[in-house]
Amino acid sequence: MVESHVKKHENKNTPKHLTFHLSEDEWLRYHQLDRETKQMIRLVVKSIIYNPELVQEAGYIYKLLISKTISPYVCPLCLIPFSSLFALKQHIRYQEHEKECKICGKKFTSTEALLDHICKKHNICVK
Ligand SMILES: [Zn+2]
Ligand SMILES: [Zn+2]
Repeated sequence: MVESHVKKHENKNTPKHLTFHLSEDEWLRYHQLDRETKQMIRLVVKSIIYNPELVQEAGYIYKLLISKTISPYVCPLCLIPFSSLFALKQHIRYQEHEKECKICGKKFTSTEALLDHICKKHNICVK
């Protein structure tokens, strides 16, 4: 316990390496990228460490995109795709949803307020 504490303190300002395990295919692909792209990937990893909420947002956007491949009418609250705008609006109106933003975790008192927030803050609107 004491030893690890001392070690931590000593190494405070020396750079450390972050190791990833890649498959051979991933490794080859990475090395085929140009210098700038590689640098960008490392930068993205570093930024996400400081802003882990971006991972949450990226997960949401990823699921949203998958639902959008099925239908353009996707509920921004539970990410279910609907066959028409009417069906989506009916769903939003009658289905009970969690009143917490899936992207940033902010809580709301009504579904309308949450939808308004997702539209204004995260640019995902029900048209
Ligand atoms: Zn929904
Ligand atoms: Zn939010």
